[in-house]
Amino acid sequence: MPLIAVATWKFGLGACRETYRNLAAGASALDAVEKGVRVTEEDLDAASVGLGGRPNADGIVELDAAVMCGPGRRYGAVAGIRDIGEAISVARLVMEKTPHNLLVGEGARQFAVEQGFKPRWLLTEHRRLEWEEWKRSRGESESSHDTVCVLALDGAGGLCAGTSTSGIAYKLPGRVGDTPLVGCGLYCDQLAGAAAATGPGEVIMRYVVSFRIVEEMRRGAPPHEACLSALGWIASENPRTGEQPLIGVIALNPSGEWGAAGSQPGFPVAIATSGGTELIEAVV
Ligand code: ASP
Repeated sequence: MPLIAVATWKFGLGACRETYRNLAAGASALDAVEKGVRVTEEDLDAASVGLGGRPNADGIVELDAAVMCGPGRRYGAVAGIRDIGEAISVARLVMEKTPHNLLVGEGARQFAVEQGFKPRWLLTEHRRLEWEEWKRSRGESESSHDTVCVLALDGAGGLCAGTSTSGIAYKLPGRVGDTPLVGCGLYCDQLAGAAAATGPGEVIMRYVVSFRIVEEMRRGAPPHEACLSALGWIASENPRTGEQPLIGVIALNPSGEWGAAGSQPGFPVAIATSGGTELIEAVV
């Protein structure tokens, strides 16, 4: 089985490399994706993920994350979690240690603390100053956002998808995007494939974009075509899509074929295989 990891955005390069490094060492796709996403969550330069992510309108960082595994269609997620930078790992524990799929807000934080995570203040000084500036300029809604999404195929043929984000900068407190929602920000089915999405969550969740891509692959579409088809569907239904921020999608099928597409130019995707890791501009 060819090992492969695919990740969104330039800031996903490190996550992609780390995911592949773990796959190559024999890790399951789930372990590899968790370790990969953690790299971006700890990266202070990644302004919309984990530690150093942009805060909500009150100046508090709230994170959304999810993981879904092909075998058994297992899924765990957290939304609006504060003080815990390792959101992907908490999402995994929701999947493994609770009878639930999704924990939110204070309940998610309490669960993480019970599982041994140490609460940290996630707002860095740099992001605090940006937020102060945003408040002074009387807060035009900020279009800054992005999600690290990672898809992986392991040596046993297992597929996994993971996502993590601080969401839309200066969002209303309590706002949850597509990233932690099954079928929206991610989906993974062992027989059909895995997919994930980044971009304005309010649009992505209304079109259940990741589920749509996986269902296209189930019907036999190659990952590339499945991605283009889902974005084409949104564009045809919603003529304003072209004016809206970019939606980017990635997909991986059980044979290790990958695909990616953006609704506009400017969506880089990181791919890691036995040939190395590269950053590729997705097709539009
Ligand atoms: N989908 C994320 C959200 O709406 C943001 C992004 O990926 O750009 O929270």
